[in-house]
Amino acid sequence: MKRPESFEKLVAILRTLPSVGPKMSERMAYRILRMPEEEMKVFIQVLQEAHRQMRPCQVCGHWDDSSPCGICRDSGRDRAVLCVVENSQDVLAVSRIKDFRGIYHVLGGALSPLEGIGPQDLQIASLMKRLEEEPVTEVILALNSDIEGETTAQYLADLIEALSSKIRGNGRPGGIKITRPAQGLPAGGELEYMDELTLSRAFGGRREFDRN
Ligand SMILES: [Zn+2]
Repeated sequence: MKRPESFEKLVAILRTLPSVGPKMSERMAYRILRMPEEEMKVFIQVLQEAHRQMRPCQVCGHWDDSSPCGICRDSGRDRAVLCVVENSQDVLAVSRIKDFRGIYHVLGGALSPLEGIGPQDLQIASLMKRLEEEPVTEVILALNSDIEGETTAQYLADLIEALSSKIRGNGRPGGIKITRPAQGLPAGGELEYMDELTLSRAFGGRREFDRN
């Protein structure tokens, strides 16, 4: 059955959103069609406002309505501990751990040769610059435990280790310790879906990164 063009267009644009399959996009489309005019107006307004106001922080890359973001501006944070994550959603997940008070760096994804995502496509150069200039003594690599996350962690560990030897004689005698959350993150697991308790345990028991 051929569906009206305007409906097809709506379904197609909804499908560009993450995790939205054919069934879900149709359900969403019908929900939108049933919206009263007033609700539709608010819906569009909220989308536009968020899109206009939110931006990636120029320091850490986390999406916020100001740059530097609220986390980077927070003077109560421990600037010696920097947590590297793939996406802004992961910052939200880690920030639910009450006893983590460090700072963040958002890579904007993970290395993936298959999808053609290389180091230059991620916020890696800016991370290394921060590590060189800021008084960081521990980097927590809190990346997803899938192949891309592992590859990225390994790649970053090599870079940070090299930088660490360079700065050891330079005001940070201990260099930069590289750690990762303890086991407890299921293999292939995505950080943003971890419950608070699992994440909290994984962070509490974090261990030195094992380079191979
Ligand atoms: Zn920030």
